[in-house]
Amino acid sequence: LLCQKQLQYTKHLNYMLQQTSSDVLEKQAKISEQLYSQGTAKALEGIPIAFKDNFCTLGVPTTCGSRMLLNYVPPYNATMVEKVLEAGALMIGKANLDEFAMGSGSTDGCHGPVINPWSMVTTPSGERLSPSVADQSSDGSDWFVAGGSSGGSAAAVAAGACLASFGSDTGGSVRIPASYCGLVGLKPTYGLLSRHGLIPLVNSMDVPGIFTKTVTDSAIILNAVAGHDNKDSTTVQESHTPIQIDEDIDISKLNVGIPKEFYVPGLSEEVVTVWREIADLLEKAGARVTEVSMPHSRHCIICYHVLCCCEVASNFSRYTGIEFGLRCGSEESTEELYAENRHHGFNDVVRGRILAGNFFLLRRNYERFFLKAQRIRRLISNDFKNAFSAGVDFLLTPITLSDAPSHSWFIQKDSRTRSAEQDVVTTAANLAGVPAISLPLKLSRQNLPLSLQLMGPRFSESRLLSLAHWIE
Ligand code: GLN
Repeated sequence: LLCQKQLQYTKHLNYMLQQTSSDVLEKQAKISEQLYSQGTAKALEGIPIAFKDNFCTLGVPTTCGSRMLLNYVPPYNATMVEKVLEAGALMIGKANLDEFAMGSGSTDGCHGPVINPWSMVTTPSGERLSPSVADQSSDGSDWFVAGGSSGGSAAAVAAGACLASFGSDTGGSVRIPASYCGLVGLKPTYGLLSRHGLIPLVNSMDVPGIFTKTVTDSAIILNAVAGHDNKDSTTVQESHTPIQIDEDIDISKLNVGIPKEFYVPGLSEEVVTVWREIADLLEKAGARVTEVSMPHSRHCIICYHVLCCCEVASNFSRYTGIEFGLRCGSEESTEELYAENRHHGFNDVVRGRILAGNFFLLRRNYERFFLKAQRIRRLISNDFKNAFSAGVDFLLTPITLSDAPSHSWFIQKDSRTRSAEQDVVTTAANLAGVPAISLPLKLSRQNLPLSLQLMGPRFSESRLLSLAHWIE
């Protein structure tokens, strides 16, 4: 009930699309209460959780923030949804996002932009945010962006509407909003969590990600959902749970690498300072902190975008308006029908990626673009392997270039330019499939959260979370 109040209170932040009715929540909460009193409560009993609106939810509209799917009501639950419900959680609703999870600000979905809850504390003009911001700033107010593409899921936790939420991280979409909203954002190893029912963006990189306020909460949620799923053949067969936080982690035994290529143009002075401070903190505790080189990371953006567009071109061919998606077109010919449905159904970011992907996949371009990007992806992955086999345990890097930017500043640039600048430090972990966590550390001069990223070898979640917990 408290969550419901919170949701109403912060409605104008536009982070929630579909909300579970208070009657249903009330009933479920009563059952949870009873189970607690009987001592039979499950791992997530009564815990309010939200899902990004690209996770399929049985009988609940799942729009992906796109006109294309405005009327789509899935006939099944995504495995992540199923698992949290089985563990006793309360699903409070579906969270706003960038259209089909393409973006890094949550400004590009058809339901309008998500507003960072920290804008309630401070705004770019230094005043309190006016509630009329819900009308898309008709009064000229500005706010801070929540980050994307899982901005609604992040804002829901930051605003106190739920204790945890799920987003999807294909190129940074959990870690970026976690950083802007001051949360712990975990992108697990590719294959640890099932993607079944997560509407695909880039199958070879998509990972369900978890937003929480603390590292311990992140481990609790991860344990409830990790593991093999018959419905997703890319999930691991062997068991990697339980993920345990080692409260007595011996920092003096750790070797932490600082990849020099992550010192990217545009990094704010405040981020560099906190990066240095945490490296110093680890060194004082006895860790070996060394500079490492990951020479291929400068190709991450271009490699990510070629592969992303190719997979998008293939994935999105299902949205014809016949089996799936908006049907609004003329019926003169099948071609025209598809074209018109897609013209009205997708925004120009999505259309642009489909076009680019089809271009890269043309027979005459395939080798030059797609195959080359695949080879570069291997080199990027090898950079990680080399660093870890040379004795580095974890990598410490920035996660966003600065604290949350203002909306007016953010929308000046087109989505491609924004991603090209921002995603330099995030996409490497997706290309290599390694786990990465965004960790909030202190407040900036503007009173907004500043975070850093830790990355580790595949399936090192227990140790990664233990180190993050020590730092937090
Ligand atoms: N900004 C990236 C993109 O637009 C990240 C997407 C994601 O992680 N879902 O593709």
